[in-house]
Amino acid sequence: MDTELALAWIRETAAAVERQESYLTELDSAIGDGDHGSNLRRGFTAVITALDTLEPDSIGAVLAKTGTTLISKVGGASGPLYGSAFRAMGKALPQATATPAELAAALAEGLLAIQQLGGAAPGDKTIVDAWAPATAAFEAAAADGLPSAADAADAAAAQGARDTVPLQARKGRASYLGPRSTGHQDPGATSTALLFHTLAQVTHA
Ligand code: ADP
Ligand code: MG
Ligand code: MG
Repeated sequence: MDTELALAWIRETAAAVERQESYLTELDSAIGDGDHGSNLRRGFTAVITALDTLEPDSIGAVLAKTGTTLISKVGGASGPLYGSAFRAMGKALPQATATPAELAAALAEGLLAIQQLGGAAPGDKTIVDAWAPATAAFEAAAADGLPSAADAADAAAAQGARDTVPLQARKGRASYLGPRSTGHQDPGATSTALLFHTLAQVTHA
């Protein structure tokens, strides 16, 4: 990965969030407060504005600005969680180009930040349920090169998001529903799957 690819990843993510806004909001209406799509759209719109004036010289500059902006612009739980993850990844990648192994390590730092802030474990029906398997799959395929690793992570994140359907939420607003949170796909795990999908997309562009 290089700085240009990091920029492309965030831009593609912002576009995908815009396209999927109503779907994410629909998922959050079932087990939350119906704002996940609008939260992320507001956040990523602000990220694009911030990046337009940045002229970043490293991957880390792109990811850190993304994280800081998400934290400041998104009020919901997902803002600080994704914001911290992007900041942690940015800190892990101060360079202008990174190997797949270095990107794998940064994704793991992102996961750690999410878990330190939110305290969620795999199976709690959160972002972690897509991010953790995606990180593991990326790491396992890193030696095959970036596009292969990103494809593996994309598939694992999508599967992880689907696998949240039968789970009962133990963190976040959905946990207030208790057993009634089962039978619905988690909005945050779904947006994480979207993030890994756009990463795979830009590595093939
Ligand atoms: P809010 O719940 O404050 O309205 P959002 O709707 O933007 O925020 O985000 C909801 C998503 O955040 C959930 O679907 C879940 O995936 C994720 N989430 C909530 N709490 C946590 C947590 N403690 N750890 C990880 N992810 C969480
Ligand atoms: Mg919500
Ligand atoms: Mg909310």
